[in-house]
Amino acid sequence: MSIGTKSNTKKTIVVTGGAGFIGSHLCEFFLAQGYKVICIDNYLTGSKNNIDRWKDHAKFKLIEQDICETIEIDEPIDCIYNLACPASPVHYQADPVHTMMSNVLGTRNLLLLAEQHGATFVQASTSEVYGDPEQHPQLETYWGHVNCTGPRACYDEGKRAAEALCFDFFRAGRVDARVARIFNTYGPRMQPDDGRIISNLVMQALKGEPLTVYGSGNQTRSFCYVSDMVRGLVAMMEMSPNRGLPINLGNPQEFTINELAELVLVLVPTTSKILYKPLPADDPQRRKPDISRAREILKWQPRVPLAEGLLKTIGWFSQIANRRVVPQKLKPAAAKESLARSAI
Ligand code: NAD
Ligand code: UDP
Repeated sequence: MSIGTKSNTKKTIVVTGGAGFIGSHLCEFFLAQGYKVICIDNYLTGSKNNIDRWKDHAKFKLIEQDICETIEIDEPIDCIYNLACPASPVHYQADPVHTMMSNVLGTRNLLLLAEQHGATFVQASTSEVYGDPEQHPQLETYWGHVNCTGPRACYDEGKRAAEALCFDFFRAGRVDARVARIFNTYGPRMQPDDGRIISNLVMQALKGEPLTVYGSGNQTRSFCYVSDMVRGLVAMMEMSPNRGLPINLGNPQEFTINELAELVLVLVPTTSKILYKPLPADDPQRRKPDISRAREILKWQPRVPLAEGLLKTIGWFSQIANRRVVPQKLKPAAAKESLARSAI
């Protein structure tokens, strides 16, 4: 096969983890574009609700399977997106051995499937390959600072091993593999009990419960809205030629967790207050992507500021919490400052 020279005639896309948060948005995008989508998921952290709407769609097919098992698809496929892996620290640490196997065995199984079909392969890697970074912001050339014996290692090292596999298959000319290093992404269809910061804070504010902030709250993250992430992942598939380099995808606007909690308190009418809890082990202190490479190669950058994405996310979670949030109350004068602060 020739790497990176495929034309724009792709017809069938496999999305592993397609019942999950980002995966279901990716399925939705490709179905809307007229592609056939094959979703592979074992519902470990995903939800039938995320994909139920397409159960009778002629171009949507569901395979309920763990990617650690051998995968066989007896129809032509053009591209595989590998998103199957729990992404929330709470979930990926619940069965760390399975997390590691999903990344190593699962990615290997899917690379073999891509090789068999001559399909382009897009791996959902992560900013966690940088661990608790000593370089800031994080460039793709940084090799990272990961504790390989800690509780996050099953995910961090699993994703690092998956990247190594992708680049080995690429260098050997076996698979047109591409690696996207995804930074914290949020939006509708996250699970309310997912355990990650935005779903936790928004659900807590909607229910009038204390907003849990771990540690001092001075640690930082940079939050990317899901529609921006989907555009970035699509650009990864369309990239031509494939230069064989990992690419950071994320929003470079950096916030402390305290700032995020304050913003949620501005946007959700609530009586909630912040409650400080202990910081989990190996929690990265600062995280912000350098997206120069994505800008240059993919012509991609995020468009949705945090406050705007949060408003959409709050709207979605408010349905789940069965709490009607009056839209104009989401935009009080105080929110204007926060909106300006989070503008890109
Ligand atoms: P998610 O937990 O909502 O989705 C993961 C999906 O994969 C779920 O539907 C789950 O059931 C499925 N899955 C997990 N293990 C599986 C296995 N062994 N076999 C088959 N299916 C399996 O998480 P998400 O936020 O949508 O993340 C999707 C991908 O993006 C993950 O690979 C994650 O590591 C990566 N990523 C996400 C973020 C983020 O902030 N959302 C950041 C960095 C990387
Ligand atoms: N966090 C928090 N309260 C929560 C959940 C998370 O303060 O209820 C913190 C967590 O310690 C980390 C940051 O928010 O510093 C982001 O956590 P998340 O689990 O969303 O993702 P991570 O980037 O750590 O994988």
